[in-house]
Amino acid sequence: MTTSSFVRDLMAELKAKNPAEPEFHQAVQEVVESLDLVLERRPEYRSARIIERMVEPERVVMFRVPWQDDQGRVHINRGFRVQMNSAIGPYKGGLRFHPSVNLGILKFLAFEQVLKNSLTTLPMGGGKGGSDFDPKGKSDNEVMHFCQGFMTELCRHVGPDTDVPAGDIGVGGREIGFLFGQYKRLRNEFSGVLTGKGLNWGGSLIRPEATGYGAVYFAAEMLATRRETLEGKVCLVSGSGNVAQYTVEKLLQFGARPVTLSDSDGYIYDEAGITTDKLQFVMELKNIRRGRIREYADKYKGAVYTPVDPRREDHPIWTHKAQCAFPSATQNEIGAKDAANLLSNGVYVVSEGANMPTVLDGVCQFLDAKILYGPAKAANAGGVATSGLEMTQNSMRISWSREEVDDRLHTIMKAIHRTCNETAEAFGTPGNYVNGANIGGFLKVADAMMDQGLV
Ligand code: NDP
Repeated sequence: MTTSSFVRDLMAELKAKNPAEPEFHQAVQEVVESLDLVLERRPEYRSARIIERMVEPERVVMFRVPWQDDQGRVHINRGFRVQMNSAIGPYKGGLRFHPSVNLGILKFLAFEQVLKNSLTTLPMGGGKGGSDFDPKGKSDNEVMHFCQGFMTELCRHVGPDTDVPAGDIGVGGREIGFLFGQYKRLRNEFSGVLTGKGLNWGGSLIRPEATGYGAVYFAAEMLATRRETLEGKVCLVSGSGNVAQYTVEKLLQFGARPVTLSDSDGYIYDEAGITTDKLQFVMELKNIRRGRIREYADKYKGAVYTPVDPRREDHPIWTHKAQCAFPSATQNEIGAKDAANLLSNGVYVVSEGANMPTVLDGVCQFLDAKILYGPAKAANAGGVATSGLEMTQNSMRISWSREEVDDRLHTIMKAIHRTCNETAEAFGTPGNYVNGANIGGFLKVADAMMDQGLV
């Protein structure tokens, strides 16, 4: 990547204004490198200072969430909602509950979300929120009390036409249920204020599956440009939560062989392949018993469990021979050495289920090697796209069948792939899905901002 004086100045100002937010700096840097190509052709964006406006959230809400545990002890967590951009629709983006959550991480996620949502073809602005609350090891009762406290403040800032949050790390069906219940109680209204809802109370079929399925559809589209399919491909998958589970499910349907899964303690490598039965075990382990991935290797003797070694610079999950990788855990899980390991072990398809899982150096290595690299804002957009479909069903007060939602998801993923591919080509960088996604997502938002004046 070459860096122009515009990018250098913008980044210097951004870092000075937003210190100690390295993930936000990283996300913006990757995007503005691509947008340099646009500014040459569309100088009006520059004089309207569209990019400078896009990196400044429209609104940030930060609040205290006090709650009591089962022993009656008082805890205080911090809650956030970053409302980044509403030029093309109400703010939309997940809530993350994880001890690592801070303002910088949520700003990076909200910024990415704006461009991702634009790519989906649906009318959704971008936002993100969450808390440093850790649901791990908490009872259902404690999680409920926390969610109720969190929503007591958040409900002032969200609504079906204003801001529609969803799940993310640490926020699944259980948490969305508690959050929705409290919103309904406080506002006395039953509305589509959240997505990822239960099927009996406004949720959409395929929403739980959508991010993982979408990442696999995107990989299949990338492979199709080389007249290849996923059939028989060995795939490395990280994480073992929502995105990882449904990535594995769809890979199996496409005849691929997923061989790894992980959590923050370690990973399993199952050379024979994770089958449908083994995946059922993982779903029960993670979603119901809330156990650790090491139990997989206790149950299936052919699998090997390796605990995380904090002294290692690389992660051994990325050292196995494979053709495809689906990072589906968290940001920056593929470091520079990991990217080199992936390339030297034969991986030539990377479809990012997690948000920004690859460090900038790794992104450059993938682009230089000209592999099929699907960046998160394109590859994992299936989740929010299906949230958009859930909003449509809520507004129309109807429910579509599983097949109908899955077909729409598949069509949207193909459209996102086409946009990325054609945009990369149009801006002189064929095959570069990073430029394709960044520019493709940006243009629609930028034009809407131009139309709406200085707001
Ligand atoms: P879950 O909470 O369901 O699962 C997260 C998984 O990643 C768990 O296995 C978790 O392990 C692991 N993980 C989380 N943080 C870390 C960490 N710091 N180090 C190592 N492992 C970690 O979340 P999702 O599956 O929903 O989200 C995974 C990724 O996908 C995130 O980047 C999220 O932003 C992104 N994403 C999710 C969407 C969705 O629809 N859910 C939509 C688009 C993107 P452990 O249990 O040990 O914490």
